[in-house]
Amino acid sequence: MVMDDQSQRNETISAIWNRPAGSLALLDNVNSRRYIGFRMLGAIAGDIIGSHYEHFPTKSPDFFLYREDSSFTDDTVLTTAVAQWLMEETDLVEMLQRYVAWYPDAGYGTTFLRWAQCGERDPYDSWGNGSAMRVSPCAWFASSLEETIRFATASSVVTHNHPDGVRGAVATAGAIYLARTGGTKDAIRDFVCKECDYNLCRTLQEIRERYIFDVSCNGSVPEAITAFLESHDYESAIRNAVSLGGDADTQAAIAGAIAEAFYGPIPKDIYSETVARLDVRLLAVLSRFYETVIKRPMSLT
Ligand SMILES: [Mg+2]
Repeated sequence: MVMDDQSQRNETISAIWNRPAGSLALLDNVNSRRYIGFRMLGAIAGDIIGSHYEHFPTKSPDFFLYREDSSFTDDTVLTTAVAQWLMEETDLVEMLQRYVAWYPDAGYGTTFLRWAQCGERDPYDSWGNGSAMRVSPCAWFASSLEETIRFATASSVVTHNHPDGVRGAVATAGAIYLARTGGTKDAIRDFVCKECDYNLCRTLQEIRERYIFDVSCNGSVPEAITAFLESHDYESAIRNAVSLGGDADTQAAIAGAIAEAFYGPIPKDIYSETVARLDVRLLAVLSRFYETVIKRPMSLT
């Protein structure tokens, strides 16, 4: 959790990463309580807000954003693992399994947890939404839509090598990339429908009436994207996603990642609640990703 003493914090971070604490912009700003328009928290804030409602579903967008048990889950842990993998160009299987060892109780699916804890190297043909929930760093790391699709596919196939698992990751990452590079909602809708063959014809209200908990990509990613498409700002995207009454943390992570890319930095109050619920290790990686990837000069094609 966030610590109060800045020197103790910086000492801990340096011990973990052996890097100058001055490079850890997010932590510096948490310490000084300044808000710097940080990116890459859209998925994570959605995960934290949705975490309570995964277990206590609601069909209303009018709910308390934070409850006593609101905390980061597997969506945050594995998103951070993918961010570190991209920065270090290392082995994703090893990286995912390392994070599971650090955070064994983050609420993983049983098959994924067994795969990770048994040190498996082969994918297990998953079509679950785990590929979509962890993919957002790929869209920030890539320099083109084509590269986004390549990174999203690579981030998926180590576990979710079923075509529907890959499709969920590609649709989510493509939407984030288009959003962060100025694409309109129509352009995002076109990509998701035409390139990923998802049906986005249903309204959120139509989906909500019959929707139940569904961890498949096919049964949760288009719904989360619809939650974003019908939003008017970051918070309404999160409220839309959670109000489906399904896999709330993951669907809010997906909708939140796209919404952050589209609308800009998450609101200050949500930013503060989010960083207060992350630990030093996660903050350090996210800070480094922001400093070295998101703030770099862009050469978009
Ligand atoms: Mg989760």
